Amino acid sequence: MLNVVVLGAAAGGGVPQWNCGCPNCVAARGDHNELRRTQASIAVSADNQNWFLINASPDLRQQVTATPQLHPRAGHLRHSPIAGVILTNSEVDAVAGLLSMREGSPFTLYAHDRVLAILRDNSIFNVLSEANVRRKPISIDEAFEPTLVDGSASGLEVLPFAVPGKGAWYLEGKAHPTGGDDAGDTLGLRITDKSSGRYLYFIAACARVTPDLAARLDGAPLVFFDGTVWRDDELIAQGLGHKTGQNMGHIAMSGDHGAVAALAQLNVERKIFLHINNSNPVLRPESAERAAAESAGWQIPADGMEITL
Ligand SMILES: [Zn+2]
Repeated sequence: MLNVVVLGAAAGGGVPQWNCGCPNCVAARGDHNELRRTQASIAVSADNQNWFLINASPDLRQQVTATPQLHPRAGHLRHSPIAGVILTNSEVDAVAGLLSMREGSPFTLYAHDRVLAILRDNSIFNVLSEANVRRKPISIDEAFEPTLVDGSASGLEVLPFAVPGKGAWYLEGKAHPTGGDDAGDTLGLRITDKSSGRYLYFIAACARVTPDLAARLDGAPLVFFDGTVWRDDELIAQGLGHKTGQNMGHIAMSGDHGAVAALAQLNVERKIFLHINNSNPVLRPESAERAAAESAGWQIPADGMEITL
């Protein structure tokens, strides 16, 4: 079986975001706890004992505390069920949590060469000593089986693939440490439980749904998909910023070319939005946008949602 915990469902900044006075953030700070979300990450396991994190959000410490499956096993002075972390990009909201995993427990870090190069280039990540934390490159369209800490098989197969996206903001206008084009900056993952064959897609950042991507997702048991903004000009319309969703490499949920429309004709058993920005009205349970998303078959998860496939 494929076991999944949604550790965090929000985009960068979380809900509420520290410096944001938008209606959702104000409500989340007030008496609307149900709006609160930590930054996007999921945990997956084939055996319900050993877990892999998909991205390490800045809220990782809080997420681990809130998730019993990720606590040290009873009777061990030092232990973690987290066998590895698989990175899909190098944004702050995907890598900053690694700094909270620096206390010497062994695990394996899987990422594309371009992401590993950024980590190598930023010496603060040397707190993860390579003696404990092996860094393994992953390649586009090459499936791999992540291993447990003792080197044994995890029972999972992970296939990374390129999705239309955008490099990390903090490198905008700067040369990438590996040079070259931006292939590998934004990955989607297909994660399969090898014994049952059940699988999910994790696509937390995606600028548009190409025919290739749509064909890939057709027939999937579960898709986690980029739910950053409801409409492309959402940040501008709310006076929160000057970038569109497209400027940030994120497809909108709504609209003729949005995610809801793009996946509507596909046969997908379960569709869940992830990486939801605090500006997004779908966070409010009573909103028309939430009703529209749900009637199109999408779920808006709370942190801590557990799924068994
Ligand atoms: Zn806000």
